[in-house]
Amino acid sequence: MAKSENKRMKIGLFGGTFNPPHLGHLRSVEEVRAQFQLDKIVFIPAGHPPHKSEENVVSAEDRYEMLRLTLEEDPHFEISDIEMESSKSSYTMDTLRKILKIYPRDEFFFIVGLETFQEIPTWKDYKKLFSLTHFIVMIKDPLPSPESILPVAIAEEFCYSKDGKGGFRHRSEKWVYLSHITRLDISSTKIRELIGRGEAVRYLVPKTVERYIRLKGLYR
Ligand code: ATP
Repeated sequence: MAKSENKRMKIGLFGGTFNPPHLGHLRSVEEVRAQFQLDKIVFIPAGHPPHKSEENVVSAEDRYEMLRLTLEEDPHFEISDIEMESSKSSYTMDTLRKILKIYPRDEFFFIVGLETFQEIPTWKDYKKLFSLTHFIVMIKDPLPSPESILPVAIAEEFCYSKDGKGGFRHRSEKWVYLSHITRLDISSTKIRELIGRGEAVRYLVPKTVERYIRLKGLYR
């Protein structure tokens, strides 16, 4: 992750398994970037994703390389290897603490899809996450009611506000913002299934990633 210059940057962090990365990931965070005027978005591939069975997850090196190919043409997108350094499970709490230590001046926004956000109570030390960073939760049509968004276990620590973009203010003064995006109906699971059946994934992933998957014989 490149060091910021003098100004305080607004940086989106987008974690995932990216097994493989796809155009649904790109389109959604590009919309978030524009809506929240973020200076850049740093994609963080999980080295050893604690929430996914390792069975169908290709190596961290392959996922990193596919993500690098996906992001190479967009100057607003960066990739971080912060979770690739360890052979242990990667936990968001540890990753965030490391990032905040290196970049104490910048303002961070952790970007997640609604379904991932609602799984947060299964994450390590999850309650503390909300005082370390803002969150941006990507929601799609039909829009959910605000009270159905926050997991029950944390709801009392927030109050809903219609100010600005709308969202939930945490008692730490950090926010959980909501971002209404066009969610393309693409998932890594769907892509793996198509490849497993010998079908094409053209226009679901960048051309370079399609070629990489074919050359390395991934997901067959
Ligand atoms: P899988 O199908 O293997 O579970 P995935 O496609 O959901 O994978 P992940 O790498 O697990 O991809 O997701 C990283 C982040 O991207 C999560 O926050 C997830 O909610 C979000 N996401 C996944 N697919 C889309 C999509 N089509 N549009 C917007 N966000 C997405």
